[in-house]
Amino acid sequence: MTTNIAECLNEILKDARELPVTKLVKHIRGLLQKWFWERHEATTKMSTPLTKWAEKRLHRRTNKSRCYCVHPVNLYKHHMVDRYLNGLVNLSDKTCTCRKFQLDQLPCRHALAACNLRRISCYDYCSPYYYKETLATYAGSIYPVGPMQEWDVPDDIQSVIVLPPKGRKPSRRPPKKRRPSEGEEIVYQKCGRYRGVRHQFH
Ligand SMILES: [Zn+2]
Repeated sequence: MTTNIAECLNEILKDARELPVTKLVKHIRGLLQKWFWERHEATTKMSTPLTKWAEKRLHRRTNKSRCYCVHPVNLYKHHMVDRYLNGLVNLSDKTCTCRKFQLDQLPCRHALAACNLRRISCYDYCSPYYYKETLATYAGSIYPVGPMQEWDVPDDIQSVIVLPPKGRKPSRRPPKKRRPSEGEEIVYQKCGRYRGVRHQFH
């Protein structure tokens, strides 16, 4: 009955939420069918070990990693010094002082410099979530439910009487936009192109 558990989903469903619940479920089913097909199709066209998104980032970071001086401390730890960083890359723990390695679980430019020095594959340090194989999650198919007359509903489900949810219905419509949490600021941005104002939470 609520979608605010995932704000990105909430954003996509913000118009569909106006629909009666059966229509909303129908809409979500259609969306899932589309997403599953698109992702499955994208996987079959992939020629790289990681997803396009991850490969692009790795490529960009690899280019930036070429100018680093790497000072090995031991087999896994490497000291890096440049204008912005005086830190340590630990390939064993998959950590770096810059914290990018921990944050998106792809080697940061410093970790890539260390991999290059060690002559080891950076792919060993990428999260399995970025691997093409993980996208096999979308190998399944989401089918249309078909006309109601053809549904094969088990007796124990048919006999269930569904009642409206308990609790008092608020007199006004629930707000579509999220209220900022405590400590969050709303930043208004002017768009020169559309002359509109949009806001972001920071
Ligand atoms: Zn780093």
